[in-house]
Amino acid sequence: MKITRIETFMVPPRWLFCRVETDDGVVGWGEPVVEGRAEVVRAAVDVLAEQLIGKDPLRIQDHWQILTKGGFYRGGPVLSSAVAGLDQALWDIAGKTYGAPVHALLGGPVRERVRVYAWVGGDEPAALAEQIAAQVEAGFTAVKMNGAGAVSPLTTPAETAAVVDRVAAAREALGPDRDVAVDFHGRFTAASSRRILAELAPLHPLFVEEPVVPEQSHLLARLAAATDIPLATGERLYGRAEFLPVLAAGVAVAQPDLSHAGGVSEVTRIASLADTYGALLAPHCPLGPIALAASLQVAFATPNFLIQEQSRGIHYNKSADLLTYLVDTEPFRFVDGHAPRCDAPGLGVDVDEKAVRAADRDGHAWRNPVWRHADGSFAEW
Ligand SMILES: [Mg+2]
Repeated sequence: MKITRIETFMVPPRWLFCRVETDDGVVGWGEPVVEGRAEVVRAAVDVLAEQLIGKDPLRIQDHWQILTKGGFYRGGPVLSSAVAGLDQALWDIAGKTYGAPVHALLGGPVRERVRVYAWVGGDEPAALAEQIAAQVEAGFTAVKMNGAGAVSPLTTPAETAAVVDRVAAAREALGPDRDVAVDFHGRFTAASSRRILAELAPLHPLFVEEPVVPEQSHLLARLAAATDIPLATGERLYGRAEFLPVLAAGVAVAQPDLSHAGGVSEVTRIASLADTYGALLAPHCPLGPIALAASLQVAFATPNFLIQEQSRGIHYNKSADLLTYLVDTEPFRFVDGHAPRCDAPGLGVDVDEKAVRAADRDGHAWRNPVWRHADGSFAEW
């Protein structure tokens, strides 16, 4: 079997899919994307495709070496995301070829269902309680919310109180048997994070995510030592070498993104690395159906897995949502806040190729907003 064709599709709301075709008719799908930089990743996929055309798709480990290291310069979001999507497609092909779900190829399932969380906005306490009530009604046992919008470099008492009040409102709506995770999104300085973490501790968040931006990861050890709240990070880390220092710093939850951190191949290695630090895996996934399918395959085969992000109804998904490009939506029919085990071959989703090709004709040009402080200077989004 040989790889004969690799195509990419820019599909709304902000995704990029790749399709890898073989000469015996088996097709694999992947989702190589950096949100807001999809065109750049598309170009990277086109260049990497040169290494795969004419090759045996089942030599995934060897392809991963060549794709990540064969160009001398390596790593970073664009290249690692391009590799990630191609890697997902190769695992999809392998599963379909062997007639097995990817989790079987990874050693078999260690759980029967995967806990997923729902996104709630978190910007306004009254709306928050309503959103949480709707997610609880839908069966979810955990939600994630943002800590704050743009805040002062050292948060004012009112800004600090607003974060705490919103999380308190979430805790009240959820009760003691459900979880709330709080995403700081790198919006706070380390000093502000430290102050806010102390005040949030009594509300028992599941974890606090990105308490500092990734380039300040050297400050995580101090923050981890100063709080009892489990700290999480990883959506902007691209391989196991970048996870090593944050795990050593005491991060409790590793959040690699299956579409950014080298795909199924690398995220399983990151999970093993996290396990040696007693840390848990909670893959980032505000993305499309292929990224989520790949995430779930890893979740089923990973002992130290905690919880899975998913994008159904997330605020980004305006023109299309998680189920838009699927022939069969059953794999993402969450029951009691869990994804059922899917034993279909490959990644386990049936992509609606016609819908994908049609959507690509319009494409998208999604960009994240650029925020500024009141004085006009740049603010982290
Ligand atoms: Mg995040």
